[in-house]
Order: sequence, then C-alpha cells, then structure tokens
Amino acid sequence: MIEIDRLTKTYGATKAVDSVSMTVEAGTITAIVGTSGSGKTTLLRMVNRLEEPSAGEVRINGTSTLTVKPHILRRRIGYAIQGHGLFPHHTVARNIAAVPELLQWPRDRIRARVDELLDLFSMDPAQFRDRYPSDLSGGQQQRVGVARALASRPDLLLMDEPFGALDPIIRARAQDDLRRIQQKLGSTIMLVTHDMEEAMRLGDKVAVMDAGRLVQYDTPARIITRPATDFVADMVGDVERPLRLLSLIPVSEIVADGPADGAALPAGASLRDALSACLWTGRSAVPVEQDGVQIGHVSLDAIRARVEFHP
Ligand code: ADP
Ligand code: MG
Repeated sequence: MIEIDRLTKTYGATKAVDSVSMTVEAGTITAIVGTSGSGKTTLLRMVNRLEEPSAGEVRINGTSTLTVKPHILRRRIGYAIQGHGLFPHHTVARNIAAVPELLQWPRDRIRARVDELLDLFSMDPAQFRDRYPSDLSGGQQQRVGVARALASRPDLLLMDEPFGALDPIIRARAQDDLRRIQQKLGSTIMLVTHDMEEAMRLGDKVAVMDAGRLVQYDTPARIITRPATDFVADMVGDVERPLRLLSLIPVSEIVADGPADGAALPAGASLRDALSACLWTGRSAVPVEQDGVQIGHVSLDAIRARVEFHP
C-alpha cells in the first residue's frame, strides 16, 4: 500500500503540488490525469524522490520513503517515461537487466528474467535479446522500457505518459498489454496521463489533478457519474459521458437469455462494443458468446436502460 500524505512541492511562489493525499492499494493501477502543468509529473517524481517534497511524505507499506536512501528507493520503484529512456549502446537484454545487475542477481536468474519479460511483452527472446534500441520500432522500444522498469519486481511502478509518443493503434495495444501484464504480475502502478480516455481505460482508480491539487480520487464510473467539480466534468466531457460509461461495463453484466441474429460478441466485450455492433449492422440485439458457446443476447433497450442516468 502506498500512502501519499499531504505531499507538497513549492517552486518559489508556485505550488506545483499542493497538499495531495491519497492511498494506492497494492495490485492496482491508479491513473493520475490533469491538464499540462497541473503537477502530475512533480507528484510522481516525489514518490521515488527524484524531487524532494517541500512538505508531507510518502509511505510504502508503512515505511516513510524519507528513511530510505534515494538510490536504494529507486531500485525498488520502477520508473518508465515517455520516449522510454533506453541506453542506446546497450542491447535489449542489458537494458532490461540494468536494475537486476545493480542488485547483483546471479547471471542465470537475470537471463531467465529478461526472457520471461520479453515473452510477456510478446517479443521473441531469441530474436530481440541481442538487438539495440535503434533496431526496434517505437512500440517495441516502449515495451522494452516498461519491461526494464518491471525487471526487479519492484514494489511500485511509476509511469509518466508512457504511451504519449505512440500512434493510436499501437497505443491501444500497449494499454491492453499493460493491463494484461499488470494483472498477471499483480503489480502496483501509478500512471500519469493527460488523456482521460487512457485514465478510464487503465485506472482502477483515477486521480484528477487541477493546479497542483487533487480534486477527485475515485473509480472511473464515479468520476463519470459524479464529477466532484466543473473541472472534472469538463475533463470527462458532457457528450462523451454515456459512451465512456458504456465502455466500462462488460456485456456479461446485462446479458439476457435467448438467441439473437448475426455475429456474436465475446462476454468480455463492453456495452460500447455492443452498441456499436447494433448500430453498424442494424440489429436491435446481438448474441453473446463465451468459449464459443452462445450464452444469451444483449439488446439496445437493455443498453439504454443501463446507461440512462438520473441525477
Ligand atoms: P504536469 O506534469 O502536470 O504537466 P509538472 O509537475 O511538470 O506538471 O509542473 C507543475 C508546475 O510546476 C508547473 O507550473 C511547472 O512550471 C512547475 N515546475 C515543475 N518543475 C519545476 C522546476 N524544476 N522549477 C520551477 N517550476 C517547476
Ligand atoms: Mg508532466
């Protein structure tokens, strides 16, 4: 568990981060979202003491980070940034192994860990282990950057706009990969983004920052349905609200008995996918299948009933 307690950073007259308190549960993703200059990066960099707080503290599993030497702390906290920051003259394997090497893991263990991570990120170890960063695509470089940050099984992974430089299709895939890998490894992640869509997609909880302050810290569904301030409502966007909400709900939640015509959706698809399928193919309902077996259908009426919001 990560406890951020009245964390503050002042630069001259500006409060870059203004008394932010929040608790991050182990094994979850917290997305920190806000406009440019709202203090997201400064908040994140105070967690691993790349910036020293002006006031307040961070506790990891009960221990104040102020009692741990910064270079020790940073071995326990992974850090991944936009543009990946790989060492250009080191191979993929050596890049990923950077922290395990500092920790003097045995060679066999390092090699096994590098291969395990490459596998997890769908990069064949035999093919990629000995390449240099310049021989990789942007998406591959970004995956190696995240693999490196995860290499020593850190207590916490900090990510600052990690997908900012990727084009939309690669970006969506990188987000799905991160979710899958986080669930598999049980990692705790704090991720900064300026993109509300990304925050909703990835965050178990979303922290909205405005001018250095934490204005709302809540589940994506509550951020959408109960924005705490006008600023949060603006970040979500009036027009987008119903669609964002639909994208958070799996079809399995409102699946009804009985058949429907046409191509089926998997049970893990979202209601947004179901709505899209209905509209695109002119159907009033779509079948839902699990492991290749039809388990029922989702109708337009049911989607409408689920998303209709009565303040
Ligand atoms: P974000 O990541 O949300 O864009 P930052 O945390 O980078 O925001 O910056 C928050 C505020 O703090 C901004 O007003 C920025 O100009 C200021 N700031 C950040 N770093 C410094 C610094 N080293 N010196 C002075 N001001 C800074
Ligand atoms: Mg930033």
